[in-house]
This record gives sequence, structure tokens and C-alpha cells, in this order.
Amino acid sequence: MRIRTRFAPSPTGYLHVGGARTALFSWLYARRHGGEFILRVEDTDRERSTAESVDAILEGMSWLGLDYDQGPFFQSERFPRYREVVQRLLDSGHAYHCYCSKERLETLRAGQMANKQKPRYDGHCRPSCSRAVHALRDIRPSMAKSAVPAGATDAPVVRFRNPADGEVVMEDAIRGRIAFQNAELDDLIIARGDGTPTYNLTVVVDDSDMEISHVIRGDDHINNTPRQINIIRALGLEPPIYAHVPMILGDDGQRLSKRHGAVSVVEYRKQGYLPEALLNYLVRLGWSHGDQEIFSLDEMVALFDLEDVNRAASAFNTEKLVWLNQHYLKTADPAHVARYFGMHLGEMGIDPDAGPELTEVVMAQRERAKTLIEMAENSVFFYQDFEAFDAKAAQKHLRPVIGAALAMLKERLQALDSWTAPAIHQEVVDLAEEMDLKLGKLAQPLRVAVSGRGFSPPIDITLELVGKRRSLERLDKALKFIEDRASSA
Ligand SMILES: [Zn+2]
Repeated sequence: MRIRTRFAPSPTGYLHVGGARTALFSWLYARRHGGEFILRVEDTDRERSTAESVDAILEGMSWLGLDYDQGPFFQSERFPRYREVVQRLLDSGHAYHCYCSKERLETLRAGQMANKQKPRYDGHCRPSCSRAVHALRDIRPSMAKSAVPAGATDAPVVRFRNPADGEVVMEDAIRGRIAFQNAELDDLIIARGDGTPTYNLTVVVDDSDMEISHVIRGDDHINNTPRQINIIRALGLEPPIYAHVPMILGDDGQRLSKRHGAVSVVEYRKQGYLPEALLNYLVRLGWSHGDQEIFSLDEMVALFDLEDVNRAASAFNTEKLVWLNQHYLKTADPAHVARYFGMHLGEMGIDPDAGPELTEVVMAQRERAKTLIEMAENSVFFYQDFEAFDAKAAQKHLRPVIGAALAMLKERLQALDSWTAPAIHQEVVDLAEEMDLKLGKLAQPLRVAVSGRGFSPPIDITLELVGKRRSLERLDKALKFIEDRASSA
């Protein structure tokens, strides 16, 4: 079988992590089997769909690296095709016009609710037999027309004539066999009064036209599936294989939503996560391969299968995502991390060209940052002079007692020909020994002087990266600070 999967978001907001996981599973399944992955934008809801949302979805997909082989297709551009299919269903007697007024349907619904029945359409306009049968008997199939009640709406909706009995069986690739009773399904609307198609129709037409072999989607679509299968059969087609992915829960057991914190993929990018960390996190959210936690993209492609997707919902765990992010910050190619790191510096208003090579800073900082934001915040001093020393660090380390040693260190560093970490390191060690100081007693004031704060990468690397001119200027500033402090004491 030719494997073709799709991701079909509605552009009514951001790319939710749940949607991103569905996209990832669909993408992995296609890649694993050498198939194709299709992006389809379900924008038939013209009121709620926006161009900004389309952009946000495409941006999220591209940041995650989920490339598509075809698309994006837009449902809003396919209305003529949907009309054609609706007409075909009308012609074959699998659909009919419903002229019921809003008032009638509301009264019906209220009555059913009062009787504790499931609200459903009562088949009022449903012809008692299909047009096909009438055609055979050479009788004008004008039942729909004859059913028009006086004063009814003149813009009828089109309803799908769902089989009245029997069952619809789906062999779900994740959940196994699920059977639905046709008696439970009413005749759903497939085209509105203004002729626009509804969701269940467009999905069926698109999945069939786009030759989708596997529909991998959230389990909130399970209840739509028997209706879609019935429409597919009415069109004389074979249903695709369905795989319904369980939902993602927040830490309180409720469906993951905004009130649990960030749920948009772009938001995770902004918060300083690497795409591979989010991908690795998402693949493990409902899928497993033994006890393995870390998966490169290639490994995911090689190992992913729908059979290993959990049937139970999974809970989102930010701590684990942070752990994975740290892992990738530490282990990914520094040049790759540097691209994202530079972007974050830029977003903070810092010119990445005004300081050391980004890759060098990444290598110096990556052991102690959980996110790229943290890394960027900890690295500002490499690119920008600071206004003041961190008050607490300065209070503790820039004391008059160290003034003389720091001044002498500055002289020696100034005399250095080669501004490298080993040379800098040697000077600090030698001077500490000469002055009978513990290394930290000298290194820590030096750190505060040059970085403005109490923590930084190893001091020799820090100085090398800050550069000679800037380091010496900052040492002067620290000596001045100590002087002022001594004279005011
Ligand atoms: Zn009706």
C-alpha cells in the first residue's frame, strides 16, 4: 500500500502541542514507510480562520522540521469540488434537502431534552425511499420537493441519509476494533443553507481525493468517524485506516489547555526550547520503545509505529521537557545550537556580532543552562557592557582587601601577548600563589569584575571570550568601585 498521511489543522489559533504531536506521528509514519506527508488547512470556517493563524501553523511546522511533500492545500479553495460531491450524493439518493426551520429544530431538541433523549434530527424531511429506487420505477423523484412544508425556509440544508440500522465497524490502528450502531447516528448536515459544506463532508472528500491511506488524528474525532465511513461507502469508496491518538492532559488530569501554561509550539520556541527537545518530548508523549527516552529524529523515523502508541491519555510534564532541552543543549552540535542562541540574543535586542563567536559562547555556557533564554540572559555581558555590578556579588567580592591583588592582576593581564584561556589561567594561578591567596579569593573578584555577576563559565574562558580590551576596561571599573568603597568606609 502506498502510505500517505496528512496533517489537517484548522487555522483558528496557534499550533497546539497536541496538534504538533499528531503532525509528528503522521510525519513519522509517512517517513518510516517511505510514504508522503500532506498538509491540508481546514479553513472552511471563514469567520474563525485567519491568515495569521495559517502563518503561525506553518512557522511551527517549519521550526519543528516537519516538512510536507504536498500542500498546503486549502479547503476554502475546494468549494466547487465539495458542491459536486454533495450533488452526487443527492443524485444517488444518499442525501436529501431538509427544509426544517430553526424553530422546528429547536422545539424538537427541547422536547427530546425534556424526555431525557439524545437530541437528534427526527428524519422529518427524509424521503421514505431513495431516489435511486424511484428512478428504477420511473417515478419522478420529487419527494424532497413534496416534503416542503408551507412557510419553511427556502434555503434548505442537505442532510446525509445515514443507514437506519446495522453497525459501522472501525479497526483503529491504535485502539483496535470499535463498533458504532447506525441507530445512534442521525442524518447529519453535509451542506448548509448557503451551500457551504460541513466538516464531515470536506474531510471525507479531501482524504479520498488526496488518497490518504492512514488518517492519524486526535481521539476527539472518534465520534465523527462512523459518519465519515458511511459517507465514504455511499460514495462507493473504501475508508482509510484510522489511528486515533489519545489526548494530552494537563497536570490536573484535564485536557491540556492554555490554563496549564504554554500550549503553543511557537511559545515553546520563544521560551528557549530547541526543536529537537520538543520533538523528542512529543514523540514520547504516548509512544514508547522500551525504556528509551532520548531519540534522534533518525531513530524516531526508524522505530516509530502506530502499534506502540498508548491507548491511554498521557500527561504533559514540563520538567521532563526541560530535562530533554538541557540534554540537547549539552549534546547537540554547538553550531546548530548557536543559530537559535543568536536568534534569542537578537530578540533581546543584543547584536550577536558585537561579541565573541556564538558557537564559542554556546560551548562555554551549555553545561549550565536549561533553556536558550537562560543561556542568552547569562551571556549578555559577552556582547554588551553592563551598567553596574550585581549588588550582592560586588558587596561580597569587590572588597578593599582584594584591591591591591586585583590591580596587580590587571597589570599582568595587560602585559599578556596571547589572550588565551591557558595563558590567562596561568597568570591568575601564579599571582594567587605569590600572594598566598586561595585561587577562588582572586578568581571570584575577577569574575565579578569582568562579568558583572557572581557566576559565569570558567574564569579563563570567560576572559578569553570577553576579550582583552573589554576585560581590562571592566577591571578598571572594578578597581574604581573598590576605591570608592574604601574611601567611603
Ligand atoms: Zn427537515
